[in-house]
Amino acid sequence: MSRVLIIGAGGVGGVVTHKCAQARETFSEVLLASRTESKCEAIARDVKKLQRRVIKTASLDADDPKNTIALIESFKPEVVINVALPYQDLAIMEACLATGVHYLDTANYEPPDKAKFEYKWQWAYRKKFEQAGITAILGCGFDPGQTNIYCAWAQKHHFDEIHTVDIMDCNAGSHGKAFATNFNPEINIREITQRGKFWEEGKWVTTDPLSVHTPFDFPECGVKDMYLMYHEELESLVKHLKGLKRIRFWMTFGKPYLTHLEVLQNVGMTSIEPILFEGKEIVPLQFLKAVLPKPETLGKNYTGKTNIGCWIEGVKDGKFKRYYVYNVSDHAEAYREVRSQAISYTTGVPAMLGAKLLVEGRWRKPGVWNVEQFDPDPFMHEIGRWGLPWVETAPEGPLPV
Ligand code: NDP
Repeated sequence: MSRVLIIGAGGVGGVVTHKCAQARETFSEVLLASRTESKCEAIARDVKKLQRRVIKTASLDADDPKNTIALIESFKPEVVINVALPYQDLAIMEACLATGVHYLDTANYEPPDKAKFEYKWQWAYRKKFEQAGITAILGCGFDPGQTNIYCAWAQKHHFDEIHTVDIMDCNAGSHGKAFATNFNPEINIREITQRGKFWEEGKWVTTDPLSVHTPFDFPECGVKDMYLMYHEELESLVKHLKGLKRIRFWMTFGKPYLTHLEVLQNVGMTSIEPILFEGKEIVPLQFLKAVLPKPETLGKNYTGKTNIGCWIEGVKDGKFKRYYVYNVSDHAEAYREVRSQAISYTTGVPAMLGAKLLVEGRWRKPGVWNVEQFDPDPFMHEIGRWGLPWVETAPEGPLPV
């Protein structure tokens, strides 16, 4: 039995908290801490009603490791699940190192003043975590997360060599708002407005933002236009898959979403350069975040499904092989179970299961690791039971790209 500290009471934090409360045989006590304690308390009330469990809450500014160290020392968790923002990753890792507590997150570090996400800052902690005898698991949401684990599973059970991977993320749901992002708007818009990038034959190839797209018929979601983007799991999978020749990431967007985004970009609202407004410095993107719907409020009226998976081609026993593995989630079902939409749900469930495997010793090795570096079997065997079942198929034709 372990105590778990969850940091960040947003859309994903809510799901992680409900799921840790459900895993009562593993997590004996749950503490949810965030900058605004009233958000933790609102989640705690839902957890009490839906999961019939009382959890603790606390106010925490995790930008300063001293605050997190003090909270860890008083609560004494075995693991910290960081589902605040990528900006807090290094400060929370520092706090875990100082206190000898395991760490898990769902998004890699990003400096606040530069829209650039990369693993180098967190990978630099490998030796320190090894020496402290504690485990850090990076990127254990859905993408990154379950998609990386699909690749590790395919590498272990289906292929001798993986040649190409296409990760495809489709949201065919509707939340009824003119424009909203499904997870933190600031992080989401910074990610989408970057140049596209994929890896081929040992080199990174870049494209203009959202300039490459193609329709794909997603099981249970239908035909959607998917756009080539850069996504953080490409960086680690390039290192960890055997024989890889190409890896790409695709995400679907509807036309109204893209039109809104284009207008916001054209008028400067997505910029992270501070401007002076009535004598005070503000960052346009942070102001935009303040006026957009909060991701955790979208769940109530959300309908439709998501489909996220990996299309993989390679060689098994000397023969060419094609393999497609995916999960379908339903927004309304996620809301009924944990008061969330499916994007936060598909992120929060793998985070809970990763932490569960860590504290149970099944995914524990001192150092800093991406999820595909662990044995995928315990995760793949359990994740269906926790709400994200997967389907595997052998497609007959090539990916229509
Ligand atoms: P939200 O914006 O909904 O929630 C973030 C929470 O973090 C907020 O409640 C915020 O508190 C809290 N927070 C921010 N700064 C601090 C701080 N300094 N100290 C303590 N708490 C802080 O985001 P999401 O829940 O949508 O996303 C959470 C994380 O999950 C992000 O890192 C995101 O990138 C990642 N993610 C990963 C995915 C994957 O599949 N791998 C997919 C989707 C998201 P407050 O409201 O009080 O400011």
